[in-house]
Amino acid sequence: MGFCVFVKAKEKMIQKNTLEDIYNFMDSLADVQERPYNIMSKVFGNKHGLNAGKRPKETLSNEDPPIKIKEDIEIIQIDETLGQYDPKEDKITIFSKSIEQASSIFKCSPKHLMIIVGLHEMAHAIINVKYEIRNLTADMEEIEFGYLLERTLEDYNKFDKKLYEHLAQWLTFHALKLKKNEAKTQRSKETFDRLINIFDTLNRYQPHEYRIDTSQNIQKDRIVESIKLIKIGWLSGSFVPWNVVIRW
Ligand SMILES: [Zn+2]
Repeated sequence: MGFCVFVKAKEKMIQKNTLEDIYNFMDSLADVQERPYNIMSKVFGNKHGLNAGKRPKETLSNEDPPIKIKEDIEIIQIDETLGQYDPKEDKITIFSKSIEQASSIFKCSPKHLMIIVGLHEMAHAIINVKYEIRNLTADMEEIEFGYLLERTLEDYNKFDKKLYEHLAQWLTFHALKLKKNEAKTQRSKETFDRLINIFDTLNRYQPHEYRIDTSQNIQKDRIVESIKLIKIGWLSGSFVPWNVVIRW
């Protein structure tokens, strides 16, 4: 019965729409359904010489998160409430219960909120993974390059908490903007406008370490470049100096 209704509905759709409408619909779906890993990899971009070594594990959990959402709450911290990234296991967990709860507070679709949290955690994962470094040190002696690479592999804990969260939030914001700019249909453009609005709402619910001012124009390429410099030890991983340098 259900299947018949589905087939009938599909037939109707095919009869009523042009082939172009149907392709537009498929393009919209493809735009929105891209995995956080692929989106975030694009944000980092191969031309910057930062490549994720491998994909993190991703799971959806029905368990209670470490920090539960309470009533009358003004802070809904992304990590440990909606999702988390465990660098030791290289594993992302999304907490479905609190995603449901938070989306009813933000009056948005749980799926949309899940995309945003997934991107935030994926940003942590890509910052943390062991990168290949290319281009940056092309003119260096090989021995020096080897030394830098070795250091890079062990220094992800150089980032202080505020910078770590700011970077994840900026990269998530830029990922949504990038997706909006490359959207193939009006429909998917509108979806990404909605996602950017949800991001802003979620951002307002964050503790100060997470909260970014998206009215400031900090370019994606500068952010990615700064991560690279921190990882090779040429720039401090503390928020205060980063915040000065990133605006020069
Ligand atoms: Zn985070």
